[in-house]
Amino acid sequence: MSARLSAHVGARVCILGGGGTGIALAWDLALRGIFVTLVEKGEFTSGTTGRHHGQLHCGARYARGDVAIARECMEESSLLKRLVPQTIENNGGLFLALDDEEASGTDEFIAACHAATIPARELSVADALKLEPAANPHAVRAVWVPDASFDAYRLPASFLAGARALGARLLNFTRVVGVEIAQGKVRGVRVLHADGREECIPCDAAVNAGGVWAAEIGALAGVHIPVSPAPGALVAIKGRAAQLVLSRLAPPGDGDILVPQRELNIIGSTQRMASGSGPFFPTAEEIIFLRERAAQLVPALATAPLHAAWAAARPLSGTANTLSDGRKASRNFTVLDHGSEGLRGFFSITGGKATVLRAMAEKAADAVCAYMGTDSPCQSARIKPPSWRALFAPLEAMRVEDFNTVGGDV
Ligand SMILES: Cc1cc2nc3c(=O)[nH]c(=O)nc-3n(C[C@H](O)[C@H](O)[C@H](O)COP(=O)(O)OP(=O)(O)OC[C@H]3O[C@@H](n4cnc5c(N)ncnc54)[C@H](O)[C@@H]3O)c2cc1C
Repeated sequence: MSARLSAHVGARVCILGGGGTGIALAWDLALRGIFVTLVEKGEFTSGTTGRHHGQLHCGARYARGDVAIARECMEESSLLKRLVPQTIENNGGLFLALDDEEASGTDEFIAACHAATIPARELSVADALKLEPAANPHAVRAVWVPDASFDAYRLPASFLAGARALGARLLNFTRVVGVEIAQGKVRGVRVLHADGREECIPCDAAVNAGGVWAAEIGALAGVHIPVSPAPGALVAIKGRAAQLVLSRLAPPGDGDILVPQRELNIIGSTQRMASGSGPFFPTAEEIIFLRERAAQLVPALATAPLHAAWAAARPLSGTANTLSDGRKASRNFTVLDHGSEGLRGFFSITGGKATVLRAMAEKAADAVCAYMGTDSPCQSARIKPPSWRALFAPLEAMRVEDFNTVGGDV
């Protein structure tokens, strides 16, 4: 490995928010030779990213509602399995129909998966039980899909380690408190460090990756960000009763997912709408509801001990005031260029999901590079970041050509 830092093309970008989206963007832009500063008010991934189920969606959940999102999940989950395999448990998933009504949608579900390039295949219930002995033996139909589990922290941490090796400045426990603007252009970002020091970080462009806080960050720059926080509760049950990602073979709803994570099964989720950025907490009713629903999929979960319950909010793109609006809201993401509102060099990225963080970053980086007149192409679909463990090792500066690629070494 070379001790030389990657040659920066001279452009400076400040990323506001260090969840999975902001971290993936730091890696993507650093690979393009741009000098990146990533600012996060807490620990990296301490927002929604550190609190989700960790389901690496193959897209089957979305196939009947939105084939484009389902296809994107299939493409991105396949890519992440090659880029960051050490952070993924490639366990596979089963969709189970527990009654005749759920079973009646099976053929339509499989066809929708195939339309989205997801290799779903029906199994006999006996074969499904061989794969997942803990599943409800009274299931009526079963479909295998390539769902997987991933570590909510370690996957973005690999990107963070890669960005750091390429010279990105990573500021955790540092809050964005203002945006410097001159002649309608972003010139810098004002931050407050944990020790009380203020600093103005000069930049040519800034990207708001603030998740459910995106509207608050936008207000610092005087722009309106349409983002709708949709909180939901999650419950962790001790032990690995189930080894596969299990879902109900019904249109997406509450309490229909079970994700194995380390020595736990995570039950998700509920969805409500909120007007602010939280904090959010699970209610006693949500915990009881989620446990009951999970026990329908895996009967052993009825008596397994509770480990923890918590809540987090999805940063849905757009304005959704009611629960029904929120359920209908697309799980797609949006890159906003606020130049059209008179603020050049300021961008926001909202919506999406953790599974497509790399694709979200690519699209945001393309918009920022087009604005700055930088023609470096995206490399994040090709170049493997280092292990998340590198984040805790002494800094070893690298060049882009020092990394391995998904097709083998450079
Ligand atoms: C209950 C639930 C379950 C989910 N399950 C899954 C799943 O299984 N699979 C999946 O793919 N997706 C899942 N998702 C979706 C996924 O979690 C989110 O889409 C994703 O984590 C959003 O990442 P983000 O980086 O955009 O936001 P965040 O992770 O929230 O990052 C935004 C960051 O901005 C920081 N910030 C805010 N204000 C400031 C400021 N002034 N200065 C500096 N920093 C600031 C915050 O601290 C935060 O860390 C789930 C979501 C929920 C709610």
